[in-house]
Amino acid sequence: MCAVEYAPRLEALRQLLTQQELDALLVSSPENRRYLSGFTAREELLSESCGYLLITRKDAWLLTDFRYQQWARQEAPHFQLQIYKSRVTESLAELLRSLSIRCVGFEAGYLTYRQYQRLTQEIQEAGLEVSWQPQEGLVEGLREVKSSEELAAIREALALTEKVLLEVAALLTPGWSERRVAWEIERRLREEGAEGLAFAPIVAAGLNSARPHHQPSDYQLRMGDPIIIDLGARLRGYCADLTRTFILGNPSDRFKEVYSLVRRAQEAAIGGLRAGLKSDAADALGRDVIADAGLGEAFGHSLGHGVGLAVHEAPSLSPHPDRATILKAGSVVTVEPGVYLPDWGGVRLENLVLLHATHAEVLNQIGYYDF
Ligand code: ZN
Ligand code: ZN
Repeated sequence: MCAVEYAPRLEALRQLLTQQELDALLVSSPENRRYLSGFTAREELLSESCGYLLITRKDAWLLTDFRYQQWARQEAPHFQLQIYKSRVTESLAELLRSLSIRCVGFEAGYLTYRQYQRLTQEIQEAGLEVSWQPQEGLVEGLREVKSSEELAAIREALALTEKVLLEVAALLTPGWSERRVAWEIERRLREEGAEGLAFAPIVAAGLNSARPHHQPSDYQLRMGDPIIIDLGARLRGYCADLTRTFILGNPSDRFKEVYSLVRRAQEAAIGGLRAGLKSDAADALGRDVIADAGLGEAFGHSLGHGVGLAVHEAPSLSPHPDRATILKAGSVVTVEPGVYLPDWGGVRLENLVLLHATHAEVLNQIGYYDF
């Protein structure tokens, strides 16, 4: 693996600490922890932690327990390591005291209420006066702009994803269950080099294709069914995310109509997308096409989302103006319009694009049905 430069990431975060008037940030998000330190451990359960980072204006500490001691030392050699026995607060109290830290930011979205309660109570019981400041999006904002190493990992994960999608599309046969197709995807992704899955593959056929986040079932594929397949490999920590909708046999006029509409929405969105746009304006590029055809109600999710260490990350191409952000050059986002009709089925087409100042570059190669 090529050497990732962690120092500039820490430097960029420290500028934010200064702006926010924080002495330190306590990092508990697994992706943010990895992004800043290189430590790759991931929690299986929300209630268990593999460790925390404490980033101060000068120092960088990794606090973890015995289970991760060697792993952390190996992957994050530029961090000072603190091993705690049962609670992170044992080490944290010591550090906050010795470094005279008073104002600590914490990641509001990545600390449970119970963890927060314990943390604040135990630090207080240790006799320290600390002001805890909830933060959102500090490190996530830095992660929006990808480096060349990150882009290379995403491109590789995507190439593998496309290869497997094409292989599996050629296997689709009436009588196969959604679950069998999903397993074929999972097995091939892993056998062909993925370190894991970005998310459990979605295979949704027939009426199930009207459910954007369907879980593959025993439903068996039939001729004429729309079949939505949404998948992604994970490679060197980075995710891919790609969707195509297939059909076995001859498409009905309805399928052709819906598919062409979703394709037009996707092409319009990609044609207009660029850095500098507001995210809700970006969403509207695709949404307006579907709404103009009278099917606005059938497209109930955002146009897209950022992809990187997490399969869903900033920025969100969401229609909500109160959550709007300005899109940045160097972001990788999905463009995934869909139309979902409960009495018929659905169509979704998802591309992965890289934002430039003047345009959006489509990273995947796979095309469309031509009717
Ligand atoms: Zn997807
Ligand atoms: Zn997606």
